[in-house]
Amino acid sequence: MLPDIENLLKLQDADKEMRRLQEEIAELPKRVAAIEQKLAGTKAQLERAQASVKADEAARRQQETSIQDFRAKISKYRDQSLEVKTNDQYKALLHEIQFAEKEIAAAEDKILELMLNTDAREKEVKLAQAELKAETAEIEKETADAHQRTAEDQKQLTEWRAQRDQLRGGIDADLLRHYERVAKFRGTGISEAFDHKCTTCQVMLRPQTYNEVRTGQHAVVCDSCQRILYFNPAHELAANKPVAARPRRHHPKMDAKQAWYYRSEYGEAGETYLCFIKSQGQCTRRVYDVHNGRQVGDILIREGEYHAAFPVDLADAIRLNGSWDETDLEAWGTELPMVVLDALQADLDAARAEASAAASHTKRAAPAATEQAAS
Ligand SMILES: [Zn+2]
Repeated sequence: MLPDIENLLKLQDADKEMRRLQEEIAELPKRVAAIEQKLAGTKAQLERAQASVKADEAARRQQETSIQDFRAKISKYRDQSLEVKTNDQYKALLHEIQFAEKEIAAAEDKILELMLNTDAREKEVKLAQAELKAETAEIEKETADAHQRTAEDQKQLTEWRAQRDQLRGGIDADLLRHYERVAKFRGTGISEAFDHKCTTCQVMLRPQTYNEVRTGQHAVVCDSCQRILYFNPAHELAANKPVAARPRRHHPKMDAKQAWYYRSEYGEAGETYLCFIKSQGQCTRRVYDVHNGRQVGDILIREGEYHAAFPVDLADAIRLNGSWDETDLEAWGTELPMVVLDALQADLDAARAEASAAASHTKRAAPAATEQAAS
């Protein structure tokens, strides 16, 4: 792996950790504010309970005063009854006394009721006071914790910042600019290339791009998301371990209307894919560059089957699975799309894996067949 890439990965970790710390620092005052709000609610509740205790006391005093008034009236009526002349006057006074006694009884009931109510209210007050005490202690603790945590976070942040600055100093300036520009817009600026894909945006990479990332000679970016790509050999090793689980490769038919081949060398073009299509006794041949999918040379048409018509092309070639509509081939023009390149590459990998497995299993067998997949 390029030292620049290693530093970028460390830089990404530093950026991530710094973001986490900053978010935590911003979060702490919010938590304290939430407890403070709860505290204010409890305070208000306590004040309400205390006010209603006071109101009850006032009501009780009022009832007691009215009892005293009625008692005074009764005493006055009793004195008057001693001096009455007629039976009617006496009855009227007796009636007044009875009325006052009823009023006293009612006031006494009311006082009893208020006293019961006061007991309940006082319990409420005590509860609210205890709650307030607990919440006050809690907020003091939370505030202290928040201050301590913030101080620790700030310290860590300073350390990370220093480490980050050092890392930045060790990265190629252009690459760093690119990383930071992409990270600003996309959140991350570097992505692992794995299984022919950019693992962040999930877009397939061109075989050439993937190979460049794998060899790690220079920095390569994802065409789709612009993130800088890196390759982790340990990841691929782990993923390739269960070779036995690889599904059996489908073998292409000899007499298929369309046949694809891979050649590791093809004149100056190097690695190429060859596509033969037979139609009405004729055979069409197209040749494409493995890495960029571009057509090599012109489309050739010859009489007869492709085995007979292009025998030289098929020497040392590996037969691959592949069948696309001829109108699609026409439409693609001089460049194969990525999906086709990927499918061919995947089948080529499978064919090679199969060949090496076969070679190791049957050592007695004849030298490796060149057109092994088709034969
Ligand atoms: Zn990408």
